[in-house]
Amino acid sequence: MSSALTLGRFSLGMGDRFAQQGRAQLAACQKAAAAGVNVIPVWNKSNREHLIVGSEPSGVRAEADAAVAALGWASSYHVDADHINLGTVERFIAPSDFFTLDVAGAIGTPCGQASINDFVKRYGDFGGAFGLTIGKVREAAGKYLHAVEEAGRIYRRVEQAKGAGAFITEVSMDETDLPQTPDQLLVILAALSAEGVPAQTIAPKFTGRFNKGVDYVGDVEQFEREFNDDIAVIAHAVSRYGLPANLKLSVHSGSDKFSICPAIARALKASGAGVHLKTAGTTWLEELIGLAEAGGEALALAREVYAEAFAHASALCAPYAAVIDIDESRLPQPSEVNSWSPAEYAGALRHEQSCPAFNPHLRQLLHVGYKVAAKMGERYLGTVRECEESVARNVTANLHDRHIERVFA
Ligand SMILES: [Zn+2]
Repeated sequence: MSSALTLGRFSLGMGDRFAQQGRAQLAACQKAAAAGVNVIPVWNKSNREHLIVGSEPSGVRAEADAAVAALGWASSYHVDADHINLGTVERFIAPSDFFTLDVAGAIGTPCGQASINDFVKRYGDFGGAFGLTIGKVREAAGKYLHAVEEAGRIYRRVEQAKGAGAFITEVSMDETDLPQTPDQLLVILAALSAEGVPAQTIAPKFTGRFNKGVDYVGDVEQFEREFNDDIAVIAHAVSRYGLPANLKLSVHSGSDKFSICPAIARALKASGAGVHLKTAGTTWLEELIGLAEAGGEALALAREVYAEAFAHASALCAPYAAVIDIDESRLPQPSEVNSWSPAEYAGALRHEQSCPAFNPHLRQLLHVGYKVAAKMGERYLGTVRECEESVARNVTANLHDRHIERVFA
């Protein structure tokens, strides 16, 4: 296992709905590297996105390899089979070297008393670490053991196909209703160790709301305490249960969570821990901003995307209902958007909180509205390619200036 594929301390998950922005995304990491900050790019695209766009996981690999070759990126990079399970993993196996095992759906499924008793027998009360008592251990085991066993089943399927050490394992539990407390995280990590899952990153659900493409909503001080406690739990679990030494937290829906960036940056600096910051759908929003700024027919297309998204808002929002908060009364009418200048469109969509024109409702609707552009097909993609300079400038600046600099630098 000494040659096992290892995820670096800082990594950035970058999604790209239409697989056009690989180079512009990588340019953000390159800019950070030039300033002495090593951020490993991880291209991710979930099964849900592939289904909506009509794309294949092999396309993400092709995009990543092409970007790396074009920019001469000499450091490591990865392709993430994002939020997969036993039912969806197969077509991701060949092109991916990073697997996000999504077991949130198995949380709370009761597991047998015998499994809980075995677990408690093996680990007891964890020596009281992080306030754990036998009662708390039993409660957490009852809630999470089944999910951990499911992670084991998915892990072993990938291991059987690719070989141990040939890929990076992430376990995600973020897409669920209740956050996992730090003491529960310790129970989960011990169980992952017992299950033989060599997780290098884990995505818990944190306190507060992580809506798509907009800022964190919640108690920032509480988040900071929890984040620091989670880091301490991970360090404890690594030394005590033999998990990979580079195990770190993964922050999903990490784009645009500007109010917690300083807390994360402080925690990383103080502890020396790493983090995987996952951004995804916002690159597509930067494409729209780039189109709007290019003006002319590109601006007209960006307006058309909004009008279509507005017309089909409820259908587009449905798959994302748990992670968006749109007040429909705050959405501008398409007729109004059709009169906007390039600067007005960009100002409403770009996430600059100090800009009075910024409209988080419009931003969230367009965030989930990529199906509209997918349906336009070549008409959309061709326009994006024609506006490469304007689009790429926005894609790179968003990742570098608004994310890398705030969390890693
Ligand atoms: Zn997630």
